[in-house]
Amino acid sequence: MFSSDYWQARDRFRQAAQSLNCVLETHPIKALGPQGRSLSIDIARYGSKSPHTTLILSSGLHGVEGYCGSAIQMATLTDLLPQLTLPKGMAVLLIHALNPYGFAWNRRCNEDNIDLNRNFLLPGQSFFWQPSGLWSTGFFSEPPSTPDPTRSLYSQAAGLRAAIWRFIP
Ligand SMILES: [Zn+2]
Repeated sequence: MFSSDYWQARDRFRQAAQSLNCVLETHPIKALGPQGRSLSIDIARYGSKSPHTTLILSSGLHGVEGYCGSAIQMATLTDLLPQLTLPKGMAVLLIHALNPYGFAWNRRCNEDNIDLNRNFLLPGQSFFWQPSGLWSTGFFSEPPSTPDPTRSLYSQAAGLRAAIWRFIP
């Protein structure tokens, strides 16, 4: 079930989590959404209280993608989990809207204009560009010319697979 905005998605997530007796946490962030509305990252835990195995299902790292991720989390809470018996010692952690600012404003980056999936250095760590082997897949992810429409996606994917196997010993 797709929501029409971040707040509807968050309300639905909270209600579904409570209906399933999940432990629910809300972590507000300082940044605000449209009309100055407050934003938060919401976390629901289902299953073991002291798990040795945890499945984490997060949504909305790239803000606007939260519509899809939130819908998947809703389906998990309302359709999937009620039918499952989790193994002993297992928990499912659903993290709703890792980037609530981007979700609420329909953008990919967060309130600091950071793409959270491209910036994950810890404080003090240096940026060393990228692994040299990444270039061997560049023809697929960054082709030098317009892709040849007569080549099927399958054959292009097969080329990528071959390139990866050359890179991985
Ligand atoms: Zn993404």
